[in-house]
Amino acid sequence: MSSAPTEQSFRDHLGIVSEEGKRKWIYPKAPGGRFHSARLIVSWILLAVLFVSPFLRVNGHPFMLFDITERKFVILGQIFGPHDFFLLALAMITTVVFIFLFTVVFGRLFCGWICPQTVFLEMVFRKIDYWLEGSPREQLRLNESPWTGKKLRVKGLKHAIYFVLSFLIANTLLAWVIGTDKLFHIMSDPPIEHLGGLSAIVIFSGGFHWLFAWFREQACILVCPYGRLQGVLLDRNSIVIAYDHVRGEPRGKLRKSEPRKLGDCIDCHQCVDVCPTGIDIRNGTQLECVNCTACIDACDTIMDTIDKPRGLIRYDSFDGIEKKVRSLFTSRSIGYSVVLLILVSVLSYFLATRLDIDVTILRTPGMYFQEQPDNFISNLYDMKAVNKTFVNLPLSFRLKGVDGTIRVLGDSLILKSQDAASAKLFVLMKRDQIKLMNTPLTIEVYGRNGLANTIQTSFLGPVQKKAE
Ligand code: SF4
Ligand code: SF4
Repeated sequence: MSSAPTEQSFRDHLGIVSEEGKRKWIYPKAPGGRFHSARLIVSWILLAVLFVSPFLRVNGHPFMLFDITERKFVILGQIFGPHDFFLLALAMITTVVFIFLFTVVFGRLFCGWICPQTVFLEMVFRKIDYWLEGSPREQLRLNESPWTGKKLRVKGLKHAIYFVLSFLIANTLLAWVIGTDKLFHIMSDPPIEHLGGLSAIVIFSGGFHWLFAWFREQACILVCPYGRLQGVLLDRNSIVIAYDHVRGEPRGKLRKSEPRKLGDCIDCHQCVDVCPTGIDIRNGTQLECVNCTACIDACDTIMDTIDKPRGLIRYDSFDGIEKKVRSLFTSRSIGYSVVLLILVSVLSYFLATRLDIDVTILRTPGMYFQEQPDNFISNLYDMKAVNKTFVNLPLSFRLKGVDGTIRVLGDSLILKSQDAASAKLFVLMKRDQIKLMNTPLTIEVYGRNGLANTIQTSFLGPVQKKAE
């Protein structure tokens, strides 16, 4: 039994679900205004970055790559592998804290301006709807009309374009993950050789088509975990897209014949009609709001028309609207900032001191020193090295500050790109050079471009008998 709507009844249901519990298709009015224009520019830049980045090369190597299958990541031309796991983990923790801090201060700014789901849905796919099917009213009429030749043509063309775009997105995603070279092989080799890759392309293309043609805003409202976090991250000082209820209420229709005693909201419903998640921002901050700014533009246009100042709906905090107090520095934001600063400092230190070659050299366990011909004493060492670069590196070793030699057992050591290797080393010193039982030793490791690492270890030798 349905009851009469109350002031709070919007809390009882989702804007995208009908009273009967069925999906309510949203037909938002086409947005337009200064915020939409700015978002359009940002979106095109982001789309260019997304589609172009996998093709960029630095010295013949990818500029960006997130190869999960081979655990190889290239970020801004710098390669990271499994041996950098702690750096990647630290970077992820830093990113999460940054997102928390950013959300505490600026709400869901990310969702409206940067999130790929919003960018693709609002700036690409929905624009195709307006282009091919017309205004929201015309789209509704077309959807409810019987299947005629015209409807088949329009819907067929729309879904063909949707699929081509979804195919492009799927391939781009794959290029980010496996690299363009492997992607070209999948495309050009006989299909039987890349059944896995081809299946991934087909599944992802179909998935994106389904997402943007049917699932749409439900991804933000029902699935996105970031959206769910808003309830615990936002507070009275967070800057969100907000309706100024102090200025706008009591709302009421504009009657030019009588002096207005009401607030500035003329209850024109434009902010609701334009909302892609089907909510009324005048009810306050809601989980469904993706901060797309469409309602700001719609309301500003109305304010211009009725000669009132813009900004009845704007970026502001609850306290900013109620008390005219805007404070970015709350105890929560300061706490997150301190943690973030520490994490960024630690991460920067590790990145700045990261060497091309990671080497450990330890004396072989259980071995003492060995007497060698010509009055030499030797110690045996285990060496392990990881090459973090794109190229194969020949390794060589030198002793620093002492007279002695290093012999690598076996062939000369070539460390393959992104690979690990181990070897046995002999360090030889003249007996009369050894003054201590445990002599501190510095071993320099040289790669293609000179000194790559310096290792501190020690050399065991016989105790020298004092001259009588
Ligand atoms: S667009 Fe502005 S004036 Fe119109 S209903 Fe929304 S808040 Fe009120
Ligand atoms: S309430 Fe406004 S900002 Fe939020 S989703 Fe709707 S139109 Fe976009």
